Amino acid sequence: MSAKLQSVRGMRDILPEQSIVWQHLEQQVFTCAHQYGYQEIRLPLLEKTELFKRSIGEVTDIVEKEMYTFEDRNGDSLSLRPEGTASCVRAALQHGLLHNQTQRLFYLGPMFRHERPQKGRYRQFSQVGFETFGFPNAFIDAELIMLSARLWRALGLADRVKLEINSLGSNEERAAFRSQLVGYFKQHQSDLDDESIRRLNSNPLRILDSKNPDMSELIASAPSLLDALGTESLAHFQQLRELLDLADLQYRVNPCLVRGLDYYCHTVFEWVTDDLGAQGTVCAGGRYDGLVTQLGGKPCAASGMAMGLDRLVELLSELSLVPAAQSADLFMVTLGDEAMGASLLLAEALRNQAPHLKVVHPGVSTSAKAQFKKADQSGAELALILGAEEIEQQLVAVKFLKSLEPQKSLPQSELVTFLKDYFKAHAN
Ligand code: ATP
Ligand code: MG
Repeated sequence: MSAKLQSVRGMRDILPEQSIVWQHLEQQVFTCAHQYGYQEIRLPLLEKTELFKRSIGEVTDIVEKEMYTFEDRNGDSLSLRPEGTASCVRAALQHGLLHNQTQRLFYLGPMFRHERPQKGRYRQFSQVGFETFGFPNAFIDAELIMLSARLWRALGLADRVKLEINSLGSNEERAAFRSQLVGYFKQHQSDLDDESIRRLNSNPLRILDSKNPDMSELIASAPSLLDALGTESLAHFQQLRELLDLADLQYRVNPCLVRGLDYYCHTVFEWVTDDLGAQGTVCAGGRYDGLVTQLGGKPCAASGMAMGLDRLVELLSELSLVPAAQSADLFMVTLGDEAMGASLLLAEALRNQAPHLKVVHPGVSTSAKAQFKKADQSGAELALILGAEEIEQQLVAVKFLKSLEPQKSLPQSELVTFLKDYFKAHAN
């Protein structure tokens, strides 16, 4: 016998029991997006590699080490998308969505990064991204945060996630700060770990983000980006803070929050939970005003966020905030091979006339005992029994699976009215 094939490492199957949680989460996401006037954009999973190099940045973890890049049959270098913002900007430019107009767009789907798989970190994972264009002020940054907070409330997660915010200032302020920071870390080079030494030349701000406890003291005494901000940047940040205060949203200013991607400026934020261990960030976002011009467009303010759906599903499951599996309403118990076709058609007629009911047919002809067992397992309220006798007399027998009410027989022509009355009376 040949060996069983397995899925690719870090790429999971989502089995029916889990997909209920995914559907629940996705429904809440769609509701929130709708409430704020976001429109869905569907983007390809594959893009030209150059798009990510030009947007995310050549010396970021994603582009240096994590992308699934390959040559297609034409010899073009393509990559599976590691995130959605770059594709969204590319699409908005390609289709002229940014001319003299504002946009609120969202997308949902899988992303791919070749990282070390562990809890909360997969090679295929899903994000929902919200991107806004043409809004230069802190109002939209605040609105994005409000939308995420609303989603946490809808999911029952409001007291499990905490908001951290920071400002990265303008590109010029950040560049000046960068050299100041490099100077500081160079003075203490012997205290840096290998990762930080590597970042010193490529992406020194990321050193602030180091999770190595041996580095924490050094980082705590490092110059703060917030001190390097000019009046305009400070005003933007101050306005955001005031709006969050007015909306009664709690936050912590974390001066070490820098984000891993090159394109951020001004506002950055993360929602973090303590309930998932090391991979505790469930949502991350910020402003990226420079990205549209970087990808060939006219200057356009932009701000957005991405939520990690895998981690949110894990959080919901761990906190038992998951919806119950939806049980069947009706199960068709079919007595004898001859009744199979008739019960299949009766089930079909019921779905036409009472579309809200979940009607399950046994599919194979087994013993009545086995079918009643299946009917109980399906959670159905009623079994609709059809045998040769019922077919001949155009009747259907109804067995009440969740009460002691005795079985009854009624004409098939009265079945829909009976079911409508029954489920109306038993709606909970
Ligand atoms: P992290 O610090 O956890 O690596 P990141 O900064 O790389 O996150 P972003 O690119 O900002 O993450 O992605 C936004 C969100 O997507 C993250 O906060 C997280 O919830 C989720 N995410 C990112 N990478 C993964 C992954 N490999 N597996 C599962 N979820 C992920
Ligand atoms: Mg990462």
